Amino acid sequence: MPEKESAKKRIDTLCERLNYYSYRYYVDNESDVSDYEYDMLQRELKTLEEQYPEFLRPDSPTQRVGGEAQSVFSPVVHTVRMESLQDAFDFAEIDDFDRRVSEATDACTYVVEPKIDGLSVSLEYENGVFVRGSTRGDGDTGEDITANLRTVRTIPLKLRQALPYIEVRGEVYMSRTVFFELVKQQELNGEEPFKNPRNAAAGSLRQKNASVTASRKLDIFVFNVQRYDGADFATHKESLDFLRSLGFVTVPFYTPCADIKEAEAELERIGRIRGELGFDIDGAVIKVNEFANRRILGSTAKFPRWAIAYKYPPEEKTTELKDIEVSVGRTGVLTPTAVFEPVLLAGSTVSRATLHNQDRINELNVGIGDMIRVRKAGDVIPEVVAVEKKLPGSSVFVMPEKCPSCGAPTFRDEGGAALRCVNPDCPAQLLRNLIHFCSRDAMDIEGLGDALLEVFTAKKMIRDAADIYTLKAEDVAQLERLGEKSAQNLINAIEASKGNDLAKLVFALGIRNIGEKAAKQLAARFHDMDSLMAASPEEICAIDGFGVQMAESVVSYFAQPQSRELIARLASYGVNMVSHAEKKDDRFAGMTFVLTGALTDLTREQATEIIEAYGGKAASSVSKKTSVVVAGEAAGSKLRKANELGVRVISEAEFKEMIDQF
Ligand code: NAD
Repeated sequence: MPEKESAKKRIDTLCERLNYYSYRYYVDNESDVSDYEYDMLQRELKTLEEQYPEFLRPDSPTQRVGGEAQSVFSPVVHTVRMESLQDAFDFAEIDDFDRRVSEATDACTYVVEPKIDGLSVSLEYENGVFVRGSTRGDGDTGEDITANLRTVRTIPLKLRQALPYIEVRGEVYMSRTVFFELVKQQELNGEEPFKNPRNAAAGSLRQKNASVTASRKLDIFVFNVQRYDGADFATHKESLDFLRSLGFVTVPFYTPCADIKEAEAELERIGRIRGELGFDIDGAVIKVNEFANRRILGSTAKFPRWAIAYKYPPEEKTTELKDIEVSVGRTGVLTPTAVFEPVLLAGSTVSRATLHNQDRINELNVGIGDMIRVRKAGDVIPEVVAVEKKLPGSSVFVMPEKCPSCGAPTFRDEGGAALRCVNPDCPAQLLRNLIHFCSRDAMDIEGLGDALLEVFTAKKMIRDAADIYTLKAEDVAQLERLGEKSAQNLINAIEASKGNDLAKLVFALGIRNIGEKAAKQLAARFHDMDSLMAASPEEICAIDGFGVQMAESVVSYFAQPQSRELIARLASYGVNMVSHAEKKDDRFAGMTFVLTGALTDLTREQATEIIEAYGGKAASSVSKKTSVVVAGEAAGSKLRKANELGVRVISEAEFKEMIDQF
């Protein structure tokens, strides 16, 4: 492909990907990639756009500030734009910043502050009373979250001076102590825990129900006066002192620096102590100290020219590799896990990280006793980056030839990296299978988790999934840790799971290559277990997204006598074998849909399910092959592309009409 064409393609891909991540981050409060990865992709995009300005798209994430407002909150138009910050990843970029500043100003000094990793908000006060609080949104329009912000105890509801009007800006965050407490609680309640304090803060603040926010113990650090008609400030210190005198909690520290070298030393110092702070930071901000100089420098469309955010690379620590544990998964795959001397990384203590497989171990050249470097990928999942120092005489770890659970020989997948125990009676696999069978997305049997299943299998009370349905309250109550009430609750949960949809059961069976989505498609297509068991590979292959390998997995699973016996027993205990989904015709067969913009009545998942249930396919990008684009509110680039390509575009209402027909 010519260079120009491939650059255009890459720009398009990066825009789509970054916009998706950005939506997930700002609207769903979820991070699918680490901030570092996000920033690196954005960098790549920016460089390409500078090289090929003709391909710059108006919806490029480089052209806008932050996220978009969510429709559940009313919009707030910011009278003073809430700007973002230009970022830097090395000192050469910081030196460039200094050069630009020095060229424009005389006698300029700096301050360096930690960059709090939370959610940017504006607070407005009238006659000293808190009247409105909002998110940054896209910088011009945010969301009104006054009720939620009122619950943040470090936000003064009344200032110490009844100023006619003042607007300030700050960062709402969750302290690490509160975060760890919350995660512990979420785990106990069986809820999906927040990934990091930033997600937790954002998820807690943008709640429809402000009492949820109140229970989450959020805090704020205020760092800027946005709008104030009183006296001008000469320096950063003066402005922060003023904010504190009003009753605000300001950024916990800032360091005056005579020149850029001092500022860089301070960046390094903050980098060293970042793990010890009580809150997460995602960098440090260098700001011009004098307001007169700030006014000279002004702003670009996106950020002030008088400040720059230095982003630290993901934190890494060196530690000793104590052991490599090998566990056996549901499908018999052996996974090595590095067990190391615990280290504090990005706010939490970690002591384990997956090593994936023998290939990765070889690549790292890692053996027990070596000093290794670890980091959190995405500040979330720990990973081993490299061997820092080999233990004298240490050799590379070799995966066992025998299954650590049952002792059967292990085999490497043909053409793959996975090592597998193929013994169908392997107890470790049985346990993993049962854990999967009972898990939330499968049969969802609450209370039947890893620990209990381990006891039941050890006592041979459960030998396969069907045995779960033979458990009696009195047998269960005899177990040490369970009282009569919990035993009865467990039996009730088991009983309730009998009514699950066929899709959940198919997923629960743990057929190789069949994930949750494929299980749903199989249930929707064949409707009942008998028809599914009788399906031919060709019929299965015809389902959208299914390949030969998946079809073969299904057919060979049902061909095994023990699978058939398991299903017969499950049915005999009253487990439902029919899909609850209405039997659908195949009106969308051969059609590819793309959903774009915000749908109002249906979620994207629901719309996708409907399309697939009628035999259609839901794709994520528009091409000539797209049959129909369903455009919701505020549809952007995909809608434009559909119009360019002449693809049929319909509204959500028209889509619903298509479903209601016949
Ligand atoms: P930014 O967060 O890098 O910088 C601007 C923000 O810093 C301001 O909103 C301000 O509130 C805050 N801030 C905190 N402490 C401050 C202080 N002391 N002084 C001044 N400002 C301070 O920029 P952004 O545009 O809000 O966000 C972009 C970043 O968000 C990306 O660089 C990326 O790291 C992250 N992001 C991640 C994903 C993901 O999927 N992981 C997606 C989108 C964005």
